[in-house]
Amino acid sequence: MGAASPALLDALRGPGVTLTQDVDLALHTTLRVGGPADVLVTVDDEDALLHSVRTVVSHAVPMLVLGRGSNLLVGDAGWPGVVIRLGAGLRGISIEGTTVRCGGAEPMPSVAVRTAQAGLAGFAWGAAVPGSMGGGVRMNAGAHGADMSDALVSARVLDPAVGRIEEWGPERLALGYRHSALPEAAIVTSVTLALTTADPATVLAEIDAIRAWRREHQPLNRPSCGSVFTNPPGTSAGALIDRVGLKGTRVGGAEVSGTHANFIVTSPGACASDVEQLIALVARRVREETGIELSAEVVRPGPTPEGPRA
Ligand SMILES: Cc1cc2nc3c(=O)[nH]c(=O)nc-3n(C[C@H](O)[C@H](O)[C@H](O)COP(=O)(O)OP(=O)(O)OC[C@H]3O[C@@H](n4cnc5c(N)ncnc54)[C@H](O)[C@@H]3O)c2cc1C
Repeated sequence: MGAASPALLDALRGPGVTLTQDVDLALHTTLRVGGPADVLVTVDDEDALLHSVRTVVSHAVPMLVLGRGSNLLVGDAGWPGVVIRLGAGLRGISIEGTTVRCGGAEPMPSVAVRTAQAGLAGFAWGAAVPGSMGGGVRMNAGAHGADMSDALVSARVLDPAVGRIEEWGPERLALGYRHSALPEAAIVTSVTLALTTADPATVLAEIDAIRAWRREHQPLNRPSCGSVFTNPPGTSAGALIDRVGLKGTRVGGAEVSGTHANFIVTSPGACASDVEQLIALVARRVREETGIELSAEVVRPGPTPEGPRA
């Protein structure tokens, strides 16, 4: 029996909770690698989330929060516990003046387009990031010179250690470069942004330009997790990886993209250990040849039997 015992499954059932057993997590990540999970819990409102998280905590089972899986490298052994994600009931965008409230499950690109159409500037960059608003706060996602911290007013957060949902402001979230102060299993259920008024056509044109730039400079037609490494101070990880000649380097079904050296793309049949080994190889070569230590941006939950992390 795995981590999800019949007693745990029974206790999890309730209004607004959908349980899916024996889930292939590769199908839930944009890298398209990773092993199974016993159970995926999809919650459609905050009460269902509270019930599920309290149940998981009381059964002392490890919990992984899954957004749109666009920055996750799950190991081949899968996740040894419960995976929890926000369902369609926790999507949605409401706009009042320049204040925008979004469900934690809402995809960032849809927030970018909706706010642009409403004549609001300040979130066009979100069109480029294929994650959820909750995942975007966790990572302080950003692109094209802006990030979540620029517009964020507050987020509703469930910290399992606290056991209730609280409104977190910017000081408590402490958003930094691809970083937040959210505890590992804390879940963002909604996000409030403050934007500025603008001409809709201008913001929509900005989104078009961002998308065109991405199509030209990133391998959007292949599975990836976006940038694998954060940029070291004063330089770009992609430029360093390119400079040491690693574009096109392969391990199994994982390959350093020839279009953007900070992307690892996968082919059908690739496994997570291919990606892990390629990450380690790239980090080692960059360290040996430039003296610069790269740090992974991609989140790798749980233990890594494959060895030390970059
Ligand atoms: C093609 C491509 C391009 C990308 N470009 C960019 C870019 O320009 N800039 C950038 O910053 N990122 C980029 N990314 C990475 C990714 O989209 C972001 O990191 C995004 O914020 C991840 O959101 P997610 O919902 O997919 O989170 P996931 O990948 O599912 O999870 C990532 C982390 O967030 C946590 N998490 C997920 N949902 C929640 C929630 N509701 N509450 C709390 N924690 C949560 C997870 O537990 C995990 O720790 C790109 C990815 C791809 C595939």
